[in-house]
Amino acid sequence: MAGQTKGARSEREPLSRLPDGTIKQVNPFTGTQVWTVPGRANRPFGSGHGTRHRLDTAQRGRYCAFCEDRYLETPPEKGRIVRSGTEWRRVTDVTAETLSDTVAEFRLIPNLFEILSFDYWRLNYGYAPTTAARERERAYLSTPAGRAHVLDIARAKAAASGVASADWDDLPPEEQLRHAEAFFGGCHDVVVARRHYLDRAKHDDQVASSGSLSPEEHEQYLAFTVDAVGAQYAANPYARYVQAFQNWLRPAGASFDHLHKQVVAIDELSVETQRQLERVREDPWVYAHLGVGYAAERGLVIAENRHAVAVAGVGHRYPSVVVYSKSATREPWRHTAEELRGFSDLVHAMHAATGPQVPVNEQWYHEPPGIGVAMPFRVVVSLRISTLAGFEGGTKIYINTIDPWTLAQRFVASLLKLRALGAVADFDIGPECTAQWASLKYARVAAASVAAGVSDTGATD
Ligand SMILES: [Zn+2]
Repeated sequence: MAGQTKGARSEREPLSRLPDGTIKQVNPFTGTQVWTVPGRANRPFGSGHGTRHRLDTAQRGRYCAFCEDRYLETPPEKGRIVRSGTEWRRVTDVTAETLSDTVAEFRLIPNLFEILSFDYWRLNYGYAPTTAARERERAYLSTPAGRAHVLDIARAKAAASGVASADWDDLPPEEQLRHAEAFFGGCHDVVVARRHYLDRAKHDDQVASSGSLSPEEHEQYLAFTVDAVGAQYAANPYARYVQAFQNWLRPAGASFDHLHKQVVAIDELSVETQRQLERVREDPWVYAHLGVGYAAERGLVIAENRHAVAVAGVGHRYPSVVVYSKSATREPWRHTAEELRGFSDLVHAMHAATGPQVPVNEQWYHEPPGIGVAMPFRVVVSLRISTLAGFEGGTKIYINTIDPWTLAQRFVASLLKLRALGAVADFDIGPECTAQWASLKYARVAAASVAAGVSDTGATD
C-alpha cells in the first residue's frame, strides 16, 4: 500500500498502525484523536502510591468522613445496603438514633457540595422535592438526634461556603433548617462503600478499590447505583440526563481515597453525547458495529458473558476499556437482576485487573430519556496513567502510552490469572469470546417501534 494511501486511511480508520509502529486512533463516536508513539508503550500501568506508611489501625472506621464511625459527618442517608450472611437487604428509614445499629455495606447519601445545587433546580426550574422526600425530611427531623444532625451538617456546609459562624448562629432554627432541604430533595448523590482500606490492611496503600470487592459486593454496589440513577429521573422531571461516575484516587479527581460513586442530574446533554447522537441517527446500530463489531474484527475483545462484553476502547484520551450491556433494555434501572449481575461481573473484573494503585475514572452512559434514538448501557473505565501536556492542549491530539491492542493483551493476561484464582467471576476471556456486532441488542426494540409506527420521542424540549 502506498504511503499516501496509508496517510489518508489513518484519518478515517478508527485504528491504524503506521510503518514505523506509531498507532493512530480516531474515536468512531466522538472523533477524538489519539496517538501511541513507539517506545513509550511498555511502561507499567502505575508505579503505586508513592511512599507507603504503616496504617494507624487505632483510626479504623475513622480515616475519613466516609468511614463507618463517622456517619454523622455526612448528610442524612437516603438508604443503605445491609448484609446478613448471604442475604442483602436495603434499608431506607434509618434515623439518626439508629445510624449505627447496622453496618452499611453501601450507603446512598446526598453530596454535601453538589455540582448543581438544590437551589439551581428550584430557582431555574421550579423544582420541588417529591412527597416521599418531604416525608423523609419530616420523619428525620422529628427526632432530637435527627434534628441536631441536620443542623450540624447545615452549619458545616455554611461554614465551608464562607458564612461566618456568628451570622449563621443569628439565623432562626427554622431558617437554618431551610438550608437543609437539599439533604432530602437534592439531585446529586454519593454511593459510598464500607471499606476504606482492605479489612486486613497494614499499610496506607492497601486501599479498598472496586476490584477488591467480591463479585457479589460489586453487584450490590452497581445495582444500588443504577437504582439511584433511576430515582433521580423519577424525582426530577427537569433532568435531561443523570450522570453516574467514579473517580478512583486523587490523580483521577477523587477528594477521598474511600471508594464511592456519584450520581448527578444535569439539565443539558453534553457536547460529546450530542456528537454521539448524530452518529446514532446515521446508524442506529453504531455501537454494535463500531464498538463491539469493530473490536471483534481487530482483536480488541477482552471479556464476555451472557449479558455484557468488554473491549479495549479506541480513541479515548486515556487508555480505556468499554463494557457494553447486551440487553435490549436500554435503561439500566429496568434491567433484570441477572443482567445487572453479568454487567457488574465484567466491570468488577476490569477494576480487579487494573489494580487498586492506578487512578481510574469510571463513566456511565445510557440513553438520555426522550431523545428518540437507541443507545446501549455502557461503562468506560479509563486508566489515568498519562499526563496531558502542552502538546495535547495545542493540537487536541492525545498521546497514550498504551495502544488498544497492548491494553487488551494486558487485561487478558491479568484476567486469566484472576479467574484461575477465583478473584473474579467466571466469564470468557480474550480468544474464548465469540462477541460480534449482533451481540448487542439495544437497537432491536427501537427498530420494532419504528416498524409499528410507534413514536418514541417524549422529548421535553
Ligand atoms: Zn474512609
